[in-house]
Amino acid sequence: MPEGMAVVHQEAHLLDSDTKFDLRPFFDELSRARQSALLLDYDGTLSAFHLERDRAVPYSGVPTLLTEIMNAGHTRVVVITGRPAHEVVALLGIEPHPEVWGAHGLQRLKPDGFCELPYLDEIATHALAEADAWIDGFGLHHLAEHKPGGLAVHWRRLPAGQQTDIRKIVSLGWLPVALRTSMVMEEFDGGIEMRMPDRNKGDAVRTILNELSPEASVAYLGDDETDEDAFSALAGRGLRVLVRPECRETAVEVWLKPPAELLVFLCDWLEACRNAERPPRFAGCARNREASRGE
Ligand SMILES: [Mg+2]
Repeated sequence: MPEGMAVVHQEAHLLDSDTKFDLRPFFDELSRARQSALLLDYDGTLSAFHLERDRAVPYSGVPTLLTEIMNAGHTRVVVITGRPAHEVVALLGIEPHPEVWGAHGLQRLKPDGFCELPYLDEIATHALAEADAWIDGFGLHHLAEHKPGGLAVHWRRLPAGQQTDIRKIVSLGWLPVALRTSMVMEEFDGGIEMRMPDRNKGDAVRTILNELSPEASVAYLGDDETDEDAFSALAGRGLRVLVRPECRETAVEVWLKPPAELLVFLCDWLEACRNAERPPRFAGCARNREASRGE
């Protein structure tokens, strides 16, 4: 086990004292479960926000722990993100990568590299083109992110006054398009996006739950407003965990302050896998790219 891991374990009491929630029954159940799934948002949950989005690497220790959890062979690890799936694969640094649902569940990238992409109908295609043309007309293209079935504008790195102006400009142009076409328009932590309707992180969670047995141990970890759909989908079926420096109003069982409490949670998950009563279901061969470089 890496040297820093023992320090993390010494802080394990934080989970109980801060969250007022005893996770031991959950992890005991996890050790006995025939199936388990660890569902994870990426930005703000596994990584701190970074002004340069392509530099938002995971918290130190997260890739190692996720790699070990995957290799323990008991847990299906799935990342569910608003980003295009391949961006998260590059940042996560785990090879072979876990299953990743991108663009809020519109895109599904499987560990074998097979990628399911959304079908863009004519209405969605035109709506996104119109939304794109609008921000282009205001010289905001450098803030845009084009993703499968969606378009986002990021304002996190701008001063508060500019954020307000851009929010107003984008909303003015996008709202009529969204109302006319039923495209979804939603703010997230650091920007706003338009995307195809009828798919969100909750749909991704429901699909995964349908692929698992009803007795499977499942948890979803997320930080943002866009994770609320996932939390709702998991109600009564699994553990809902808010990962965020400050708590906010949300229907979850546990609140973890990253990175220390997140690492404790993942350590406890790994320990539960290693204490599992049943043999592994999968043959794990994942490698943490950063750790491999040091070999
Ligand atoms: Mg997030």
